[in-house]
Amino acid sequence: MKDEKKLTPSLYQRILIPGGLFSLLVSIFGISWAIMLEPASALYLRILLSFGFVGSLLGILTGLIFLQKRYTKISHHFAWLQILVVGGSLGVVQGFLPLEFFFIAYILLILNLLSAILIFSIRQVRVLILLSFWVHLSILWSQGRLTDLMTVFFVLSLPILNLVVAETLWRFQETTAFHLKRLTTVNMLTRKLSSSLDEQEIHTWFKEAIQDIFEADTYYLALLDNEFLDLGLFYDDGEYFTAVKIPVAGTLGGWTIRNEKTLFLNDLRIEPKLDGVKIRLVGKEKSSLSWLGVPFKTEHVTGLAGIASYSPHAFNKRDVEMLESLTQQAALALNNARQHTLVQMQARSDSLTGVYNHGYFLTCLEEELLKAQAEVYPLSLIMLDVDYFKNYNDTYGHLIGDEVLLLLVKTIQRFIKERDSIGRWGGEEFAICLPQTSLAEAQIVAVRIQETLAKMKVNVLDEKNIPVPTVSQGIAVFPDEAEKVFSLVDLADQRLYVAKERGRNQVEPRLDANLRNKD
Ligand code: GH3
Ligand code: MG
Ligand code: MG
Repeated sequence: MKDEKKLTPSLYQRILIPGGLFSLLVSIFGISWAIMLEPASALYLRILLSFGFVGSLLGILTGLIFLQKRYTKISHHFAWLQILVVGGSLGVVQGFLPLEFFFIAYILLILNLLSAILIFSIRQVRVLILLSFWVHLSILWSQGRLTDLMTVFFVLSLPILNLVVAETLWRFQETTAFHLKRLTTVNMLTRKLSSSLDEQEIHTWFKEAIQDIFEADTYYLALLDNEFLDLGLFYDDGEYFTAVKIPVAGTLGGWTIRNEKTLFLNDLRIEPKLDGVKIRLVGKEKSSLSWLGVPFKTEHVTGLAGIASYSPHAFNKRDVEMLESLTQQAALALNNARQHTLVQMQARSDSLTGVYNHGYFLTCLEEELLKAQAEVYPLSLIMLDVDYFKNYNDTYGHLIGDEVLLLLVKTIQRFIKERDSIGRWGGEEFAICLPQTSLAEAQIVAVRIQETLAKMKVNVLDEKNIPVPTVSQGIAVFPDEAEKVFSLVDLADQRLYVAKERGRNQVEPRLDANLRNKD
């Protein structure tokens, strides 16, 4: 546990305040008794004893105040100072109290120990115990009281008992804090994941949770992609690897997914008896010895989360449960993200051809125009309409008409770049947005589409030798000819009409013969 803050301040206070008040009462009693009820003792002894009580009381009360603040460098030094004062005072109280009142020292010691364990590090608590022991011993020594075996045994038993109690309490607190932190991490992850639809973000959050919770040298979140494991997130020995793809066959991950079972291996030097699995190295050339994989399968995603360590027996049953719960959350989130993307794609695309529908194409065109304007480059728009398309339907039926449209879209897609977009404007009319493309370049694209269609053989469904479709295209360019979406569309549309009027199967504006030859 790297985290210094173990419990919340209010929790600390709830534990410490009753103890503090109780020790206040004990101390008032102790001081009164020291000052008034023992007239026989020398004045300096009474003063020392009072110092002891006040000091140990201070230990508890300043501890309470100290909790209000955050740990800083100054408070770290202050903590050491406090350890010295409190340790010394406890020693003085123990040293000067007659044996019959020793229970008071016990109470103070235990209460101080309790608060010290909560506030200070275990190192400081050990110093506190040993210091009070040393002061106690020195006082008894100077008074010549270390003569009988019983007293020596009694004095020695105190620090030993205290150390045992302190170490036990400290470990108990560490374990509680550890589990508390795990629960907090899981809660936080669940909350974040349920609000995210971004796969990258899901991977990042999952990674952070894994880092916080497990002592793993390697971890990954992998999705099954046909015969491959796509390790979208993969960490190995301090390094991240992105977009790693490994064949799934023969891997531990593959076994886990195939059997839909968590696989927990404590020592990979003992070859696991899993059919078809061959241990192999991924990432760095270092073999993991502990391996834990949790599979997941939802409607849209199948895969696994895996963690590994170079040490054997690095994980336990609690880790298994924890990873299972985290993985389930991540899988649900990934599934939601995929579902969302799918729905979004469906809402954006045309059901027949798969290209953007009219509405989404317009949105895209608007965004692209804004970018073109900001970054100052031309953008061309081609409006394309199939000539006499009605004849296909009339002669061959609508199904063949549909196939011809699909063929046309595939042809257009061959000539455009990744940044370009196609939209179905309506019926057999399409629009093509070409960012960073001048009018002349767009004309070349249009002519290529035209020429490729002319050379094509259309064999769709069982119909052979269907006449190839021809298209008319109108082109307009931003910003030279139009500066607004509306005017750009309008100009390209008018030019399409011109191409139709002039006899169809052509591009308007016509491509300069010189340019065509040059190309
Ligand atoms: P023009 O050269 O003037 O464009 O003639 P055209 O026949 O292509 O034009 P018109 O607007 O007269 O007819 C378009 C036809 O496209 C009418 C419509 O039935 C058909 N159509 C529109 N959408 C689809 C579709 O999704 N599938 C099929 N098979 N036909 C469609
Ligand atoms: Mg038409
Ligand atoms: Mg039309």
